[in-house]
Amino acid sequence: MKHAFSGIHDLNAEAGLLLRGALDVLDEAIIVADQAGRIVAWNKTAARLVGLPVDASPEVWNEAFGIFLPDERTPCPTESVPLWRALQGDRVDDVELYVKNPRTPQGIHVLVSARPILGEQGRVRGGVVIFQDATVTRLAQAALNHAEARLRAIVINTPNIAIEGYDAQGRVLYWNRAAERLFGWSEDEVVGKTLDGMMLDTPSTQKFVETLEEIARTGRPNGPNEWSCRRKDGSEVWVYSTIFAIPTIAGACEFVCMDVDVTPLKLAEDRIREQAKRMEAQAIDNANLFQEALQAISARDDFLAVASHELRTPLTPLKLQLERLVRDARAGASQERMAPALEVAHRQAGRLAALIDRLLDVSRITAGKLDLSLDEVDLCALVQDVVTRFGREAEEAGCPISFHHDKPLWGTWDRLRLEQVVTNLLGNAIKYGRGKPIELELEADDGTARLTVRDQGVGIAPEDQGKIFERFERAVSNQSFGGLGLGLWIVRQIVETHGGTVRVESTPGVGSTFCVELPRWRMPLDESHGTISIPPGT
Ligand code: ADP
Repeated sequence: MKHAFSGIHDLNAEAGLLLRGALDVLDEAIIVADQAGRIVAWNKTAARLVGLPVDASPEVWNEAFGIFLPDERTPCPTESVPLWRALQGDRVDDVELYVKNPRTPQGIHVLVSARPILGEQGRVRGGVVIFQDATVTRLAQAALNHAEARLRAIVINTPNIAIEGYDAQGRVLYWNRAAERLFGWSEDEVVGKTLDGMMLDTPSTQKFVETLEEIARTGRPNGPNEWSCRRKDGSEVWVYSTIFAIPTIAGACEFVCMDVDVTPLKLAEDRIREQAKRMEAQAIDNANLFQEALQAISARDDFLAVASHELRTPLTPLKLQLERLVRDARAGASQERMAPALEVAHRQAGRLAALIDRLLDVSRITAGKLDLSLDEVDLCALVQDVVTRFGREAEEAGCPISFHHDKPLWGTWDRLRLEQVVTNLLGNAIKYGRGKPIELELEADDGTARLTVRDQGVGIAPEDQGKIFERFERAVSNQSFGGLGLGLWIVRQIVETHGGTVRVESTPGVGSTFCVELPRWRMPLDESHGTISIPPGT
């Protein structure tokens, strides 16, 4: 070691000693050669690693130092020996070589750098080579490479979890096979690009980048959250996604996103939600049906109560009259004495018959059996008949009826049913007419006949006007006016079965006007018996 750095003579002795000491404590080996290729200085590490065949000329350095290429077999060509190259004026950086000589019989890999030492006017005065045992570094590098390869293999091959890497701008860094399968895009297609327009729309991409920014800011992972993405084929995919940051060597952040496909779950969830919605709607329908059924039952109960009361009303005086007649007959009373009671009994029996007819009509119409017997009918004569029949009742009620229409008005209708319509409307006008005059009018054009019944009675509140044509619907109390709430419903059924309409205009306290419009000619008729059946449930 006597020659080590003994050539440094332009420093003072103390500095020279220090410099030598400093170079000797380094792990790197240093060897200096002069322009002629003589080894002129070296440190301890160099002596330890390669020995110092100082007399060897550069042409045999490879042999003398035992220098091989990294394959550990091929001798390093002279022109590739770094110190030799430095003497040619080259700079050599981090070249790996293999050294095996009596000093290092086991052989070592070294990383070598070399520089020319320049003198005046840039001429090469010598060269310096620095190298270090790379075995450890090599092993560490190999271990690192192995660890990275293993990690990459895990990432690439992880099934069912899509793993993607992103930079801070949301550009794809890597993309495993599960991601390729899940999204349909290959790694080559996406690396270096953002997801905008491929898997996310612009607002979602923006949200994704903001999420990355927040993760970088807070250091906290995001998720798991549900994201909706588009596959390459355009279909929707739902992922359950966790994103976290890992630091880069440059001190920045990159992001790892792990996605699990939850599309089937999402679809099942949607189906369950749909089903729940349907069940809820069904439950509401059922509740409504139940309510309707309850209302129908309650309406029927009311109807039965009113019907029995209504039937009893003419029955009681009828019974009384009949008892009186029986008494009078037994006592041998004269015909004149018995006649008024007989008339009353006759009227009450008629009323009973009418009520029973009406109840029968209800069940017939409900069963869809309202047959029309169509005939050529003069509506004018028909109305006149009904008016005449009501003469006495109207008089008793103090409601004069005016009806002036002298021309016949022909049409194809069911005579008896139309009589029922006029009877019901006129009967109501008298019943609710407060003893005021009633007007009937008939108008017609070629196709339609219109009957108007106008009274000046109690009138109907606007909110009741829509209801009164329904079954059992009444706009007055049972105490004030008896009735079944069926007359107008029957009117509507008959009129509509004829293809016509009925409507009301009314002001409470002023009066009501009912207007029936009927098509005049309803052809073709069923030739065998001239009837039309209405379908059940109308
Ligand atoms: P009812 O007269 O037996 O109650 P309707 O079906 O004939 O049954 O009439 C239904 C309801 O319409 C009546 O309860 C009454 O409230 C109202 N109404 C019918 N005609 C008139 C009218 N001319 N004036 C006022 N209210 C009427």
